[in-house]
Amino acid sequence: MAQSGNIGVTTENIFPVIKKFLYSDHDIFLREIVSNAVDATQKLKTLASKGELKGEAGELKVTVKLDKEAGTLTVSDRGIGMTEEEIDKYINQIAFSGANDFLDKYKEDANAIIGHFGLGFYSSFMVSKKVEIITKSWKDGAKAVKWSCDGSPSYSIEEAEKDDRGTDIVMYIDDDCKDFLEKYKITELLNKYCKFLPVPVAFGKKSKWDEEAKKMIDTDEDDIINDTTPLWTKKPSELKDEDYKEFYKKLYPMSDEPLFWIHLNVDYPFNLTGILYFPKVKNSFDLQKNKIQLYCNQVFVTDSVEGIVADFMTLLHGVIDSPDIPLNVSRSYLQSDSNVKKISTYITKKVSDRLASIFKTDRTQFEEKWDDIKIFINYGMLSESDFYEKAKNFALLKDTEGKAYTYEEYKTLIKDEQTDKDGNLIYLYANNKDDQYSYIDAAQAKGYNVLLLDGQLDPAMCGLFEEKFEKSRFTRVDSDVVERLIVKNDDKKEELPEDDKKSLTETFKNALPTIEKIEFNVEPQALGENAAPVIMTQSEYMRRMKDMSRLQPGMAFYGDMPTMINLVLNTDHALIKQSIKDAKPEVVSQLIDLALLQNGLLRGEALNKFVKRSIDLI
Ligand code: ADP
Repeated sequence: MAQSGNIGVTTENIFPVIKKFLYSDHDIFLREIVSNAVDATQKLKTLASKGELKGEAGELKVTVKLDKEAGTLTVSDRGIGMTEEEIDKYINQIAFSGANDFLDKYKEDANAIIGHFGLGFYSSFMVSKKVEIITKSWKDGAKAVKWSCDGSPSYSIEEAEKDDRGTDIVMYIDDDCKDFLEKYKITELLNKYCKFLPVPVAFGKKSKWDEEAKKMIDTDEDDIINDTTPLWTKKPSELKDEDYKEFYKKLYPMSDEPLFWIHLNVDYPFNLTGILYFPKVKNSFDLQKNKIQLYCNQVFVTDSVEGIVADFMTLLHGVIDSPDIPLNVSRSYLQSDSNVKKISTYITKKVSDRLASIFKTDRTQFEEKWDDIKIFINYGMLSESDFYEKAKNFALLKDTEGKAYTYEEYKTLIKDEQTDKDGNLIYLYANNKDDQYSYIDAAQAKGYNVLLLDGQLDPAMCGLFEEKFEKSRFTRVDSDVVERLIVKNDDKKEELPEDDKKSLTETFKNALPTIEKIEFNVEPQALGENAAPVIMTQSEYMRRMKDMSRLQPGMAFYGDMPTMINLVLNTDHALIKQSIKDAKPEVVSQLIDLALLQNGLLRGEALNKFVKRSIDLI
């Protein structure tokens, strides 16, 4: 029966193409070959369970073997095997029309190429100069056959000796791929792609310490590299918190314990299982991205899930396993796929449902963990309006005292005291408790509550709140003097005569120091006898633009503008009144410096001068 022929490829020779275009992703050949072996094993199990298999299925595992001397890497299974006809059908006839165009288009995406052409098996040629298939079908009376191909389009097929049912794929590793004959390299690949395959995969033997030899020696026992029933395949009702935590440790050995987790499990209208974890986020969230691993029937596919889940979800950790995500397509196609859209929507909904339920059943726990999940929730609210609609019911606002409120609760809290004359609700906030201490203090003394918005995304959140909340404005406590933060009536205080106003302004203007990137505007105001004589404020609008410019590259213009500071002179205060009549230079300088000091703007020589002057005054 020995025969030979040409593989049904319309392109001259696919092998150089495979090598050339798939270069960046060489590693996946092992995943393809091992998962073929797993598939063949699973099919055999199905036949056995239906009673179609004569004889025993026996121990079913996949074995990966290195033979450095022969220069081969072999993957063996005891699955269904192939008859000669099947080899011809499944291996020799590859539809490969329009290959060049396609390869050109997707040369960066090995998954897409392999999937498109059903080239799983052929990916072995990325690293091999010759590949042999030695296989014996499960079917009664099947003869073992050996297929061999050296990387040209011609193959040979002949009878072979093989006692056992199943398939050996023998890869003669190419000279420029010698790495794949190293144990560490194969271990690394198996760990990455095969760690959770549903059939045991043996690679080498377990080793143990030998007292006599004083070294580790191999035992007879196979080293099984995978966990065939990973946690996400189990029923949530059978699992304890500890199981989830342990699994998390397995996935991310270096990470802190997760905050919460969600076990995903759907079978209609698509299939998806998985576990998503809320990590403890330290500070910069970019570092935490790309931690979700995507599997397809327990075969690792990728750890870049962009386009499959909403962008803010990529801050989560964990695994998603779905045979319904079309993995073998380009990324841009993925985003337009309707199944993928459904999956993304489902995951977002699950996550918000879970958060809502924790909030409802254990608010204390939710509040404790808020600081860690805040950035995730805020990011979600800013980027997905559907998520905003859900999260607005459990997202929290914290005040400077550390008390947490839902949006609704907070609105009720401040409604009476913080509504201005036009019916706008004014949310006061600080972004640094220490820097803005005196302003917070003044606002609280007036009966106002001050929020602490010190998160990375809070400047953007203020914008979102103003868009979503009716008749509401967010104002930082230092954006104006406390009397004017919330304007409640139009009564004009008695104004200073124009001349006095002018000379007072001039006096202070001339005494102001020059500070780089800061421009001052001096403004006399009657603020009552008890208010401070000099107060510095910064317009909410300009400051927010500058804050936003730090987040968005397109707004760099605002970032370069000088900071505008209002120096408000309280004309009701005795010291200012005195300065109108007869301004003493040391008093004026002292007042200015005290205000600068309170805002952290008095430094270097100016600070030194201030200290000296203070001592003189004492
Ligand atoms: P795919 O797995 O996507 O169908 P492959 O090129 O990887 O494409 O494999 C082609 C076919 O060859 C498989 O569908 C299967 O029928 C057969 N095959 C490959 N490897 C094995 C194996 N180890 N045992 C039995 N059949 C196999």
